[in-house]
Amino acid sequence: MLKPQLTDTFGRHHDYLRISLTDACNLRCVYCMPNEKVFVTPSAKLMQVEEIGNIAKMFVELGVKKIRLTGGEPLLRKDAKEIIQKLSKLPVELTVSTNAVLVDQYIETFKAANIRSVNVSLDTLNPDEFFAITKRGDFKKIMANIYILLSQHFKVKVNMVVMKGVNEHAILDFISWTKDFPLDVRFIEFMPFAGNAWLPEKVFSYKEMLNMISAKYEFLKLEDAINDTAKKYTVPGHAGTFAFITTITEPFCGTCNRLRLTADGKMKNCLFSQDETDLLTAMRKGEDITPLIISCLENKKRERGGRFDFENAVGASPSIALNTASIENRSMIRIGG
Ligand code: SAM
Ligand code: SF4
Repeated sequence: MLKPQLTDTFGRHHDYLRISLTDACNLRCVYCMPNEKVFVTPSAKLMQVEEIGNIAKMFVELGVKKIRLTGGEPLLRKDAKEIIQKLSKLPVELTVSTNAVLVDQYIETFKAANIRSVNVSLDTLNPDEFFAITKRGDFKKIMANIYILLSQHFKVKVNMVVMKGVNEHAILDFISWTKDFPLDVRFIEFMPFAGNAWLPEKVFSYKEMLNMISAKYEFLKLEDAINDTAKKYTVPGHAGTFAFITTITEPFCGTCNRLRLTADGKMKNCLFSQDETDLLTAMRKGEDITPLIISCLENKKRERGGRFDFENAVGASPSIALNTASIENRSMIRIGG
């Protein structure tokens, strides 16, 4: 019998799965980690290597063509190499999002698994500011690891979360970095998650970023692929590119092709959805998880989990602003970004 495909009620076809391997992390990024003490899921509750392989296989049979490993910090998991090897056997494009602290230990594993592109989080090029944002002193290590990735010919995308009054000035440093290195830098609008003290006035919008850049550089718009979440540009003569991820001021939900699996095996049909479908428990009971995957997708809302009206919040008076106390969702670190 023909397997059902991953198309939702708005006709969006889903072929991209982001799998979180852990909600633990070796950094403490202010925009990601909740303020309160961080709860780390005990390992027995996490999907085990075989389980990740089996669940991923079900998604692939339903049409998934790309898998990204994320977290928390995915490379912190003791069995991350085994997981990567297992998933590399599936007919998918395999990629990783990492803070790059441990990347030097994974170069051969990435190559053997045919991982060609790595997303690295980095929010400033100033070591003191890095410490203020992440509460850790790994700046030098991360920079060294980015250069290792480049020297080994990996495609490197650098993700910077831009927070007004914190690090927006670093945007120009990142663009200057793309002059000599073939990096794709992506400026991400600060998003709200439980416990991350988000406020609309902390969002440095994509339009504000463009204004800042145009005061110093001339740049060209590049063509974006259909499911791209980033609006891509380059400065003529630069080896790299820059892009904006405009979740807050210009969401890209209309072409969303993403599904998420948390480290404890719950499927989420949107980063912002409150609903979760427990695939791991069902699989451990021997149930067929295909109907659960399909019904989770059927419930996907048109835009941002059906929950936020950001356009009216950003730039609005603080009295009508959203605050994260009202955001009943997991923190970013527990969803898997
Ligand atoms: N630890 C890995 C890393 O930092 O790349 C993977 C997990 S992290 C949660 C995935 C991505 O989510 C990172 O690029 C991070 O910058 C982004 N992220 C986390 N919190 C965010 C927020 N509040 N707004 C926008 N992006 C956020
Ligand atoms: Fe860790 Fe990544 Fe979150 Fe930073 S963004 S705390 S590196 S999971």
